[in-house]
Amino acid sequence: MSFNKLGLSPALLKAIQDKGYTKPSQIQKEAIPEILKGNDILAGAQTGTGKTAAFALPLLHILQNAESKRRRVRVLVLVPTRELASQVGESFREYGINLRFKTSTLYGGVSINTQINKIKKGVDIVVATPGRLLDHLNQKTLNLSELETFVLDEADRMLDMGFIRDIKKILKYLPEEKQNLLFSATFPNEIKSLADNLLNSPKRVQVKSNNSTADKVEQVVYPIDKSRKKELLAYCIKEENWFQVLVFSRTKHGANKLAQQLNKEGINADAFHGNKSQTQRTRALSDFKDLKTQVLVATDIAARGIDISLLPHVVNFDLPYVPEDYIHRIGRTARAGQEGKAVSLVSADEHKLLFDIEKLLKSSIPKEIIVGFEPAQNLSTDALKPREAARKKNKSSRASKKQTSPRRKSSWNKRGNKNKSSKNNRRS
Ligand code: AMP
Repeated sequence: MSFNKLGLSPALLKAIQDKGYTKPSQIQKEAIPEILKGNDILAGAQTGTGKTAAFALPLLHILQNAESKRRRVRVLVLVPTRELASQVGESFREYGINLRFKTSTLYGGVSINTQINKIKKGVDIVVATPGRLLDHLNQKTLNLSELETFVLDEADRMLDMGFIRDIKKILKYLPEEKQNLLFSATFPNEIKSLADNLLNSPKRVQVKSNNSTADKVEQVVYPIDKSRKKELLAYCIKEENWFQVLVFSRTKHGANKLAQQLNKEGINADAFHGNKSQTQRTRALSDFKDLKTQVLVATDIAARGIDISLLPHVVNFDLPYVPEDYIHRIGRTARAGQEGKAVSLVSADEHKLLFDIEKLLKSSIPKEIIVGFEPAQNLSTDALKPREAARKKNKSSRASKKQTSPRRKSSWNKRGNKNKSSKNNRRS
């Protein structure tokens, strides 16, 4: 199916073509026609599926169809993080390049006055994070009374980040009569009840379960002693010449420490988390995108929504406490059909976390022991349970696993020998 069949205007089709998109993604195929009809949408889709274009394109089309001379905020997109706000704002500008709409991006950490001045000049589309949007609404520097469409993006992340109360406050400023679009990767109860209150006979659009997105990413676990994780990471980066490595750390402090350590090892690394100023975050991200920084060590929340095409390596330095976060993390690689690799450094104390992740994935992640980095403690039987269970359940899957494991093993050997010799070289 091509974009031409979706009913979008020539101005938008031209912009899509200039972006180099040849065919719509699944979420775009399903959501665009429904949004164009004016329906409310409840969409199960995560970053990397093309969901931004799935709402930005039809909304720009609707704005264009009923263009009015008087500028007023007609579309509001609420997102959880500053980075995502700036990316979604940029997408509206790019897709709307041949149209005359103005998009304003409102988030904290930067001057509110600059934002107020821009709003005063007139905007059609606002992309905002909840805190700064509420500041504007409380100060009456933004009027949303004539809003036509409200998009709540990454609703589950909003919940994780404690924004639900802010969202409820924001909803009071919006007109009752409007089109509502809700996007979320997962649907915990609080999101379901928010959706019940907000949406009017919504069309349900579900693309790719979490698992199938994860399937595209080559995943591997390196069992390792906790005390040697930094050493192993530095070793892999150097040995395999990894570039554009996004490393996840559970804490901000851990991210700082790890970045420092890698720098000491001669690897150009930067930390990316919520304690950094907006200017620092923007610079860290652009240096990473421009390949000036080899490794970006980020926390989950800060990394959410980072859209870097062709990001080849994601490393879980610590496993996340919430198994769904593993999917979000590895979704940073292999985006929009590209291939990517996700490596998890797993120490003995994280086996329960690994077990939960494998349960969610409904499959086990291949384990590789790097020669010279053998852990003192082996993987516990708990961590192996999902694989055992799957084997018992499905004979054919057992057969296929039997075929693949020796290959995997021989590749460890090759890798092990290679590693061993270079290790020796390094020591000498
Ligand atoms: P998103 O899920 O909105 O974060 O988009 C993920 C990435 O896919 C972004 O870099 C988009 O520019 C890209 N993208 C969106 N739609 C398409 C498409 N139809 N064809 C190719 N790339 C796309």
